[in-house]
Amino acid sequence: MNLPCEIVMDLVALYQDGLANPVTKNSVAAHLRTCPDCRRYYKQYRRFSQKPSNMGQIPSENAAEQEFCRLAEKMRHRRMLIGIGFFSYVCASWCLLVMLWMRMRKRG
Ligand SMILES: [Zn+2]
Repeated sequence: MNLPCEIVMDLVALYQDGLANPVTKNSVAAHLRTCPDCRRYYKQYRRFSQKPSNMGQIPSENAAEQEFCRLAEKMRHRRMLIGIGFFSYVCASWCLLVMLWMRMRKRG
């Protein structure tokens, strides 16, 4: 059961992505072993399809994750800074109030 080259070339995408069923896979593999044209096509397809899947998808996912982590870290940092700022503001006001109050008491 030798498949026509046109069909094999159509099936190469499924074959490469591992989506073809075992019978199709075996037929395509058998054809690729015997047909240099389809083998060349398959190699080109593999080289072309590996770039986006291996060098594009996974790192971009990682990049998105890294970006998210960076943003979360930034937000946490900012929240902490705001907290510290607010805390020191409250402390300073309290100190000022206490100093004022003590001075007024001393005088009075
Ligand atoms: Zn062929």
